[in-house]
Amino acid sequence: MNYNAALQHNIFKIISNAAEKLNIEAFVIGGFVRDHILGRGTHKDIDIVAVGSGIDLAQKVSELLPDQPKVTVFKTYGTAMINYGDLEIEFVGARKESYQKDSRNPIVENGTLEDDQNRRDFTINALALRLNPADFGDLLDPFNGIEDLKNKVIRTPLDPDITYSDDPLRMLRAIRFATQLDFEIYEDSLKSISKNHQRIQIITKERIVTELHKIIECPKPSTGFLLLEKTGLLQHILPELTALKGIDELEGQRHKDNFYHTLEVLDNISKHTNNRWLRWAALLHDIGKAPTKKFNKKIGWTFHGHEFEGSKMVYQLFKRLKMPLNEKMKYVQKLVLMSSRPIVLSEETVTDSAVRRLVFDAGDYVEDLMTLCEADITTKNPNKFNKYHNNFKIVRQKIVEVEERDHIRNFQPPVTGEDIMKTFNLKPSKEIGLIKEVIKEAILEGDIPNNFDAAFALMLKEGKKLGLKANEKRQ
Ligand code: ATP
Repeated sequence: MNYNAALQHNIFKIISNAAEKLNIEAFVIGGFVRDHILGRGTHKDIDIVAVGSGIDLAQKVSELLPDQPKVTVFKTYGTAMINYGDLEIEFVGARKESYQKDSRNPIVENGTLEDDQNRRDFTINALALRLNPADFGDLLDPFNGIEDLKNKVIRTPLDPDITYSDDPLRMLRAIRFATQLDFEIYEDSLKSISKNHQRIQIITKERIVTELHKIIECPKPSTGFLLLEKTGLLQHILPELTALKGIDELEGQRHKDNFYHTLEVLDNISKHTNNRWLRWAALLHDIGKAPTKKFNKKIGWTFHGHEFEGSKMVYQLFKRLKMPLNEKMKYVQKLVLMSSRPIVLSEETVTDSAVRRLVFDAGDYVEDLMTLCEADITTKNPNKFNKYHNNFKIVRQKIVEVEERDHIRNFQPPVTGEDIMKTFNLKPSKEIGLIKEVIKEAILEGDIPNNFDAAFALMLKEGKKLGLKANEKRQ
């Protein structure tokens, strides 16, 4: 079969020329070919295999390109990279890999295209198109990857036990591709993952997290998390989630299965946002429920303080997985911490002061928090479902009104500690904190407007109550 049509970009002709000049064979392989055949648009990462030196081929390609783009060489890996327009082209020499039982790193030797295809993770990722002029665009598909693409199947080229044990990350990649492409993992492969799941522990956290991000960013991430759970991988990677599984019953009282609920929330939110970290917040919003679960004869199952516990666990989890402990982590923590706040609003009459407090506490995250809470509505009771959603609509509307009127977001007290000290001739003392708190509360409650004059008047009143004497002149 010929896939000339995949190779319309002029870069392929140039690689073809370069390969001719060096008298070596060259192929485009992997994701680019797969995604072209699937009609998934143009893959911006192009992997080129040379039967010979990938670095030499990259250098020759650069010479033939108009501006001779920089060739970045990774000597240790024998690879080279060129950025050309929006394309990132990686060149590698065809290689044969053999893994020893006692080492994670394979012995790498130069090899043929076939050797190189053998070391690929899945049949659909081993498809190669020849770039040499004589057979430009010819498909090399030794494992019938085309058939697997048609049947939407993820299958390893070799015995799955060998493929997965050699590089256990491939187990996660299988699940990631199944989720991204909406493919089935071939039965033998799935069995093999279930058998080898504990091998994932030898993989670096960074590689694991890259795959987790990709699963989370899929349109329906639950597919991936269900597979991770079913195969036993999840308990090694995110035990906080597997701990949410199951329904307990005591004295006829049951609670919902928080694992499946979480996945529903994650799918829901994925219809409304592509923000990776907001999706993480959805995934982790209930993790505090496992350690806080209690049974109370009168009220049944409780999870008191699970939001606070959960936000602490977010830090531990990010640290363990070597994820960034920066503002992204703080964002996830804050959303987890506040994840029940709007829910309470949605169940009651929505008052202005409750909305002002919400905006005050959530700051710039308030819209994302609302998106999370809307996704959190998984009740199957249509009356409740509509009621909660309607109330959230009101909350959103009120947020806009409160914003326009009261400017509560990123609240700065209209009367500062400095003002209070000057007015009452005070040194730093607890009275200042007390007065500031009363002013803040009055503004949030709506007892006074959020401006200097009203706050100053209240300050004088409160100072008097505390027995403080104000200067004659207003400062
Ligand atoms: P995407 O860009 O969507 O992640 P991709 O298939 O291009 O898809 P890459 O991770 O860029 O994925 O890998 C490029 C190619 O390298 C794959 O198509 C596959 O042939 C091979 N490959 C990548 N990782 C592995 C691995 N762990 N084991 C075997 N082959 C791999």
